Amino acid sequence: MVKQLHVIVVGAGLGGLTATLALQRAGVRVSVYEQAAALGEAGAGVTITPNGVHVLNHLLGADVVGRVARTPAAGAIKHYRTGAILVETNRGNRMQEQYGAAYCQAHRADLHGALADAVRAMDPGCIHPGCSFGALTENGDGITATFRNGVSATGDLLIGCDGIRSAVRRALWGDEQVSFTGYIAWRGLVPMDRLDPGVIVPDSASFAGPARTFARYKVRGGTLVNYAAFSKRDEWAEESWSVHSEIAELQREFSDFAPEVQAIIAATPPERCFKWGLFDREPLGQWTRGRATLLGDAAHPMTPFLAQGAVMAIEDGMVLARALEAAADWREGLARYEAARRERGTFVMRESHVNARRMYSRDPDNYGSSSHKTAESLGLYAYNPLTVPV
Ligand SMILES: Cc1cc2nc3c(=O)[nH]c(=O)nc-3n(C[C@H](O)[C@H](O)[C@H](O)COP(=O)(O)OP(=O)(O)OC[C@H]3O[C@@H](n4cnc5c(N)ncnc54)[C@H](O)[C@@H]3O)c2cc1C
Repeated sequence: MVKQLHVIVVGAGLGGLTATLALQRAGVRVSVYEQAAALGEAGAGVTITPNGVHVLNHLLGADVVGRVARTPAAGAIKHYRTGAILVETNRGNRMQEQYGAAYCQAHRADLHGALADAVRAMDPGCIHPGCSFGALTENGDGITATFRNGVSATGDLLIGCDGIRSAVRRALWGDEQVSFTGYIAWRGLVPMDRLDPGVIVPDSASFAGPARTFARYKVRGGTLVNYAAFSKRDEWAEESWSVHSEIAELQREFSDFAPEVQAIIAATPPERCFKWGLFDREPLGQWTRGRATLLGDAAHPMTPFLAQGAVMAIEDGMVLARALEAAADWREGLARYEAARRERGTFVMRESHVNARRMYSRDPDNYGSSSHKTAESLGLYAYNPLTVPV
């Protein structure tokens, strides 16, 4: 049954491309529509934990994953001011031994590029850039999406993978309340050759401060340092993914942090520093309506405080393909997908928010391994999207 389907994927992010590749490997024809004029260098670093790496190893091959992502040799939570190690988070070989897959960190563009290459190798013309989703209509025979440039596409199913401000989610379920969480994030990328290598030790570190966090790790073969910094604000005007930030603003915000943090901020090329306001939505009670469903941030938009958003999108993509493959028809396939995924997506959404409160109410002077909560302590790494029942 699955082989006869034509699936329309809206949004070529990590979730959309993972779903596309997994479906293609199951023999499904997929057409992907992406609003950006070209797929490119968007984003910064992304951590992919073993629960997502299972899928990447399966779809891309461990050699490709090893090329685009790296496993930090060692990691630590450090005191924000002194830089003293509070908790060692060495994951190295332990993750492979315990979960059967590594813990990886990558430049999003490198991982995204590998997925796009693999998708195009299966079907060179299947990604259509420059197509921003406008509306959908459904009848007994299929579903039609129209895009703002006048293009339209008809298929058997439509998967909304269009991210945190999903237009497909709005078309299916209407407008919803979006509230500012009170947290803002900065992201930056610094070439290693602008830094003293002795400063970036260990490979991956997070500085736990009072109501602020600065996390950094190496990507792109260790040639770039990626960082994400979080703080609080009373208000924020617009939910956006790409507002440039002044380096001076970040320096002011983290002026009491350790010299290592100061060095990284000062070395950031101005065009590589961005800030975002983090917004919250209530979980949906249902993802699927008729021939359309949601995946990734479009289905479960979450704050980044467990660093699981991209991993959840990757898990969704693999499970969707398996559910459709296992089902007698598309209706059963979508029902199996949502049954397998919605509870987990909602759980991680809620726990990300709880973790934000935990992180921002901590006392860095009395911080130890018992206060350190992660996606691993919630048991999230033990999930394998290749074998979980669908
Ligand atoms: C500061 C920060 C740090 C993070 N760190 C991590 C981390 O370490 N690990 C992790 O797992 N996650 C992390 N995340 C979360 C992660 O980035 C997202 O959860 C992930 O990118 C979601 O993938 P997606 O494919 O669902 O959506 P996206 O990556 O947002 O992709 C959506 C795609 O849809 C396209 N699109 C949007 N609207 C339309 C439209 N109308 N028509 C057509 N196309 C459209 C977009 O251009 C984009 O290509 C972090 C997030 C933030 C803010």
